[in-house]
Amino acid sequence: MIDINQFNKLRARSFNDQKALLKKLAKGQTVLCKTCGKAISLNVAVKEGEKASAQCPTGCTHIELDVA
Ligand SMILES: [Zn+2]
Repeated sequence: MIDINQFNKLRARSFNDQKALLKKLAKGQTVLCKTCGKAISLNVAVKEGEKASAQCPTGCTHIELDVA
């Protein structure tokens, strides 16, 4: 059985974490991946139809950005 409340809490928390992370990246601050400890970079130079993303070199952190 899935605990929906718990699920929503986790989702909200990771969403806030992502927002905080992106804010730091946007300011030019270095953010380290919680998993591998390497610097996360912002990839905004994408082709049309692709989403900008933030990711670490190892790939354990990969966040797609919903910016129009
Ligand atoms: Zn990583």
